[in-house]
Amino acid sequence: MGNEKFIRCCVCHAFHHVSPFDKVPVYAFLGNQLEEQPTDDWRAFMQRHAGHRLEPLKASGEKFFPYPSPLDPMSVTYMELTNGRDRYLVRRARSSIQDPMSYELISGQLVESGLSVEIQENEIKKEMKNHFSWTPATCPTDDKIDVFVGFFKEVIKTLEPQDIPVSEYSYLDNAVSYGLLDDATVDLLMDKCAVCFLPGELKSLRRFVETHRSGCDVMTLVMRRRLTIESFAG
Ligand SMILES: [Zn+2]
Repeated sequence: MGNEKFIRCCVCHAFHHVSPFDKVPVYAFLGNQLEEQPTDDWRAFMQRHAGHRLEPLKASGEKFFPYPSPLDPMSVTYMELTNGRDRYLVRRARSSIQDPMSYELISGQLVESGLSVEIQENEIKKEMKNHFSWTPATCPTDDKIDVFVGFFKEVIKTLEPQDIPVSEYSYLDNAVSYGLLDDATVDLLMDKCAVCFLPGELKSLRRFVETHRSGCDVMTLVMRRRLTIESFAG
């Protein structure tokens, strides 16, 4: 993600993404015949900007997806590109699925605007049923799992997001990291559960928590860095 290369025309403020797809042919119907049309996006860009000053840029690693999925081919991406000295904020979008990506310079910068913290609710519920399936007698009922998840959410609200240690970074989304529960937080959760769970259940609950709180396992917290665009007042 972080080593994508771009070319910028300093005269037109146009951007070209250097990619292995630069020379992939496109197919088009001419009459009723399918024709292969060779493309060379890189050469086309160079011809369009012949005689202009060009500079190489690379992505600085900050990406911002205003729409839900970065995997959606129609999603709009804001990214920061740099020549090592200056930073440019670029909006990448396409107007239809057949169109190539277009890049537009935005007057502004990406700024951090906080960290949201969430538990992995669905994953916990699924994993609890799976974890306790070999000892059906100790498997908490759906109601009790809901109670546990509710207590966990309450406990997380008491944490300061910036104080939560990171256990792992997401491979899929560089705005996401996984947060580690410390011992004090686990104790607090168990204290709350003690009201509703029997001592035996409590013991197996703690074992569940202990075995699922490393890496990006279900008892780690999903921490999402929020980025917003701060526009330069013009
Ligand atoms: Zn140009």
